[in-house]
Amino acid sequence: MIVLLAQPAAFAPIRALARRAGLRCVPDSAEQPHRLALVGALSPAARDELATALEGRPDVAEVIRDPGSAPLASRHFRPEPSIVAVGPLSIGGGAPILAAGPCAVESRAQLMAVAQAAARAGAGLLRGGAFKPRTSPYAFQGLGPEGLRLLAEARQSTGLPVATEVLASEQVELVAEVADLLQIGARNMQNYALLAAAGAAGKPVLLKRGVGATLDEWLLAAEHLIATGASGVVLCERGLRHFDPQTRNILDLAGALAAKSLTHLPVIADPSHATGRRDLVIPMALAALAAGLDGVIVEVHPDPDRALSDGPQSLDLAGLADLAERAAAMGVTFATPSPRPRTATVDGWGR
Ligand code: PEP
Ligand code: MN
Repeated sequence: MIVLLAQPAAFAPIRALARRAGLRCVPDSAEQPHRLALVGALSPAARDELATALEGRPDVAEVIRDPGSAPLASRHFRPEPSIVAVGPLSIGGGAPILAAGPCAVESRAQLMAVAQAAARAGAGLLRGGAFKPRTSPYAFQGLGPEGLRLLAEARQSTGLPVATEVLASEQVELVAEVADLLQIGARNMQNYALLAAAGAAGKPVLLKRGVGATLDEWLLAAEHLIATGASGVVLCERGLRHFDPQTRNILDLAGALAAKSLTHLPVIADPSHATGRRDLVIPMALAALAAGLDGVIVEVHPDPDRALSDGPQSLDLAGLADLAERAAAMGVTFATPSPRPRTATVDGWGR
């Protein structure tokens, strides 16, 4: 349940009450709590009794008994959009972001060429997989630790923060040493052990939507991350499985917007995986921006025909520049890294 306090001083006694009932009490702001989420397992009867007791207190303004299954991610807890600090970049609640980079880091030359093109195009974030989840065991699995080293070098030379995927719990520590934004892939969206390990790293996480995940399942996966300590979560709609082989997946823009109405977390779109087709990436990216999402993430390769993964959906360097120009013509100004990122509101989750 969510409790709106009549005065911040009510925080301590209500937290004590929640703890006695076996619940965690999470304030919306560490400094001046106004809303508290009381989370944990409780029988419906015990929950009702607690809610009734809270409603009877003069220091409680309101009790929202049913904020849905993912209270910390919900707008009931945070009506305003969260701003997720990713290194020097702020995601959410303002200008959208452009994230660009190769599907997989393949070589120093490949990554540097893309990273520099991304910076020139006004991207705020560099993406690139060092550990790749591949459907075939014979496909390129990524450069591993060497890929991470190259990503750190690309960040150093461009100033762009880096998003990269973590595939397994035991990899979190290694990947988190380099990643500014830990990516959890679509295939792992419901890997709860991995979500807990990634959350415990205390970093922001980019959470891709599973190919068959409902909005509730997606938001509950985000709730796992928040509840275990992620400093912020960015949701990414990357296309759902569908019946028509003409496109790889179907970009659920309506679902992404519906998610935004339920959650304060930023939501971005990935038109590369959603379409699987280079010719559709720019128009769908523009559609996502026109719809008001918090950004787009696109795959880029200097020579897509020679890419070791996802070449058919990768823009070349000119394509990335074209995307940036067409977004600008639409009136979009992308957020860029700033030495003083806007304050992240996703602190004080009350761990
Ligand atoms: C990727 O970003 O390269 C990737 C593997 O994405 P997804 O998890 O959405 O398939
Ligand atoms: Mn890919």
